[in-house]
This record gives sequence, C-alpha cells and structure tokens, in this order.
Amino acid sequence: MFTKVKTAAEIHSMQESGKLLATVLATLKQALEPGMSTQDLAEMAKRELRSTDGQPTFLGYYGFPDVICISVNDEVVHGIPNAKKTIQSGDIVSLDFGVTYNGMITDSAISVIAGEPKNSDHVLLVERTEASMLAGIAAAHSGVRVGDIAHNIEEQLKGYGIVRELVGHGVGHQLHEDPNIPNYGRAGSGPTLHKGMTIAIEPMATLGDHRVYIENDGWTVRTVDGSWAAHFEHTVLLTEDGAEILTQL
Ligand code: MG
Ligand code: MG
Repeated sequence: MFTKVKTAAEIHSMQESGKLLATVLATLKQALEPGMSTQDLAEMAKRELRSTDGQPTFLGYYGFPDVICISVNDEVVHGIPNAKKTIQSGDIVSLDFGVTYNGMITDSAISVIAGEPKNSDHVLLVERTEASMLAGIAAAHSGVRVGDIAHNIEEQLKGYGIVRELVGHGVGHQLHEDPNIPNYGRAGSGPTLHKGMTIAIEPMATLGDHRVYIENDGWTVRTVDGSWAAHFEHTVLLTEDGAEILTQL
C-alpha cells in the first residue's frame, strides 16, 4: 500500500505516538550503561509504555518476539533482546522502536555508544549516520522525489558502507508502507511524495562495506565483513515546505 495522505485526526494520533516513542528512547538512552543486558533495556521499554495508551508495534510483527530491536556492534538492525547479551563499554548499541497509538504507527531508532568509545572512528560513524538522516529530512517537503532524499543521505555518508538491503519506508497505518526510501540514489528520480504523507527515513551505515546477512535466528542482520554499524531513524510528516519530525520531544 502506498502511504496515504493522512487526515488531521490521523496526524494527531501519529504526533502522540511519536512523543511516546521519543520518551521511551530517551529513557533508554539515559539508562544505557555497560553491564546491562539487552533484555534489561527491552524490559524498561515495556515498562515505560505500559503506563501509556501506546502499544509496542514490533511485538509479533511477522512473529518478532519482543517489543524493541536492539542491535550491537556488527549487528545492523533487528537484533532480539537477550538476557545473556551483556553490553560492554565501547559497544555501539542501536535501539529501534515502534509505537502504535489510536491505530497509527511511528518508527524511530538511535545508536548510542555505551560507556567510553573505543576510538574516534566509532564516534564519527554514529555522528555521520545521524547527520545523514537529518540531511535526508532536510530534503523532504511536498513534491519531493524519493531520489532527492536518498541522494542527500548518500552525500553525507561518503567513505562509509551504506546498507542497501534495508531502507526507509512509508509509515502510519502500517509499519511498512510503500514507497521504499533508499539511503542512496539519484536526485530527481523515484516516486513523488506529497504533504500529509508520513515516511520513516533511516540510514544504516558501516565502517566497512554495504553487505549484510541474516543470522540463524531469522532476524538479526549483521555485516558480512564484521564491521560495526550505526542506525538512525525518524518518522516525519511532509508539509508544504519541509518536514515535521514526529518522533522527537
Ligand atoms: Mg525502525
Ligand atoms: Mg523503519
């Protein structure tokens, strides 16, 4: 389904969903420290959401077994929280979360370095990946072509591996709606997006090349070359002359 132009009521629900989501991710970022397990973080996300009217979108999505995806180091996305997986100082921890409120969905991700960074390359990887997401958002407005967003993201990630098999997407009524929003591409190409549409912009970058594979658990996406990765994502609403980020406080 191509992402629809949302009604005012649907946009309101997505704004509320996005605020809940951003609050939970901010809480997890604040709490994250070496020694915790990825399951500890997932429990915290569950607890935080329980006191609200939001539901965890990912739980049960194509059978995903938890409320949040937590991916560490060479895991790019879709990591399953695990009580045996202890976060070490210097790990790059990517938290990807989705919230449904009043039937409307938002999707957002951050990468955080636990404790002390191992080296400046890791810090730069995280910074550049976030900057590339913001560059993609800066390109978004009513009438934009998907390729314009993709091209802006790619420009910010020169020298990094850009994951190709996973991409941004329309979002709102479903977690994943058309069109795909790749993190590389040619300006002026692809479908045109209009105000009132809502999309998730989510670059995934690595310190190596772009190749990834899915682990035996059927979910966790890892880099083939073992290089570490970062992932940032916001859900945004296209407006006449820009984009409103829905998944921030
Ligand atoms: Mg996501
Ligand atoms: Mg997404």
